[in-house]
Amino acid sequence: METYDVVIVGGGPAGFNAAKSVRELYPDKRVLLINDREELQIPCSIPYVIAGKVPLEKNVYPLEKVKEFAELLIDRVVGIEPATASLFTPTKKIGYEKLILATGWLPRRLNLPGSSLNGIYYIDTSTEGVKRIKEEIEGATKITLIGAGFISIGFADQISKAYGGKEITVVEASEHVASGVFSEEFESEMVESLKAQGVRILKRQRVKGFEGDRRVKRVITEEGEIESELVLVFIGFLPNSRLALEGGIKTDSRGFIEVDSFLRTSADNVLAAGNCIAHKSLIDGKTIPAMLASVSARDGRIAALNTSGPQVKDEGVVPAGLTEVGGKFYGFAGYTEKLLKGDGFKFKALSVSTTDAYPGALPGCNPLKVKLYFTERGLLVGGEFSGKSRGVWSLVETAARLIEGRKKAWEVAALLTTAFPPSTPPPLLQPLQEAAVKFLKG
Ligand SMILES: Cc1cc2nc3c(=O)[nH]c(=O)nc-3n(C[C@H](O)[C@H](O)[C@H](O)COP(=O)(O)OP(=O)(O)OC[C@H]3O[C@@H](n4cnc5c(N)ncnc54)[C@H](O)[C@@H]3O)c2cc1C
Repeated sequence: METYDVVIVGGGPAGFNAAKSVRELYPDKRVLLINDREELQIPCSIPYVIAGKVPLEKNVYPLEKVKEFAELLIDRVVGIEPATASLFTPTKKIGYEKLILATGWLPRRLNLPGSSLNGIYYIDTSTEGVKRIKEEIEGATKITLIGAGFISIGFADQISKAYGGKEITVVEASEHVASGVFSEEFESEMVESLKAQGVRILKRQRVKGFEGDRRVKRVITEEGEIESELVLVFIGFLPNSRLALEGGIKTDSRGFIEVDSFLRTSADNVLAAGNCIAHKSLIDGKTIPAMLASVSARDGRIAALNTSGPQVKDEGVVPAGLTEVGGKFYGFAGYTEKLLKGDGFKFKALSVSTTDAYPGALPGCNPLKVKLYFTERGLLVGGEFSGKSRGVWSLVETAARLIEGRKKAWEVAALLTTAFPPSTPPPLLQPLQEAAVKFLKG
């Protein structure tokens, strides 16, 4: 049996970064990364591949690069045995000093009458799978997307912009799009933009099943039926944690691998990182869904650092994300209106409208909208942002880091941010600071 200092199962952002960081931090360690697929696509940019903005071959996930810093084995790990510090593929037994499980996510599937009909697709990150979905979209006229979360509306936006003459329907069981993270004013703007692009959004409609011969023809909801030649199901992700579970490692009630703040699992010398683990909110310590490449990439680094003993603590996650709808970016950080109300938090929301460049006469200067959420005592807990500029990202990022630093309104008001006419808000109307001043004014 060959034994490595560090074995990593899974080559997504968590596993990739773990392998890279182990090599950079501990160059003497022998590292093996095992991934069960050789060629896959970068998931985040699949909507842009579907829309024809990025060629399929330019969106290939760079798994090969792992070879620059670790040994790469394309194989499926079928069992782990923490008691003997070993794992198994169908043909090999491999030993480890430290094991990092980074087995990622699986799409949540529907188990409804007719759900095995042809023409019903789930997210598939293989190059072949993305190619097939793209061809199906090109050939279909009546397309139904199930679920109106971040990924689904990103797809609906790109498909409706890229292809004319399609009847696109998004069916959502709740009364919100984008997982309800945006307040009414932001959400209705997104919905209106999608409508203007010809996307029909049906909220509060639960799918009961599908009808067709061999191929789907109709989506049946509690309210009626939708003629559909193609169905794309986006109802969320599940942790891929079977390997851990079968190896006797503790998982929570939803199947996420339980880890301590050093990303150590319940088994000796086994760490875990990325979408397969349970994450805690830095705001209130609750377990939250954080199935994002950004979080996985960070987890991979933390796990790598901790292969040589507990060094770096995962203090928790501030939820944050972005999407693009109707040519605008919409982002959020922390806890926003619906969540705060649902949790019975007392909060104040302050909105500021500014521009993403200055002066207003500068070509390409566009409106930028910010809404910040503070607790009654002035602690920043959330924010929503929208605008045409990629600078929306920097507001999401700054707000997330301020929330992480548990900053209060007076500290946000005193924040220093850079200014440059073509790429930032004007120094006289800096949105985060202005929102904080509004809070302080009462
Ligand atoms: C369409 C789409 C858009 C997205 N957009 C964004 C975005 O804009 N921003 C963002 O932050 N996130 C986004 N995400 C989420 C992001 O892609 C995931 O959070 C990220 O891929 C998770 O990384 P991971 O390393 O934890 O797991 P994964 O990427 O799932 O990697 C796990 C790997 O382990 C392999 N594996 C599993 N079991 C075994 C085994 N037994 N043996 C060997 N190998 C195994 C899997 O095949 C896989 O390659 C998006 C996802 C999708 C689908």
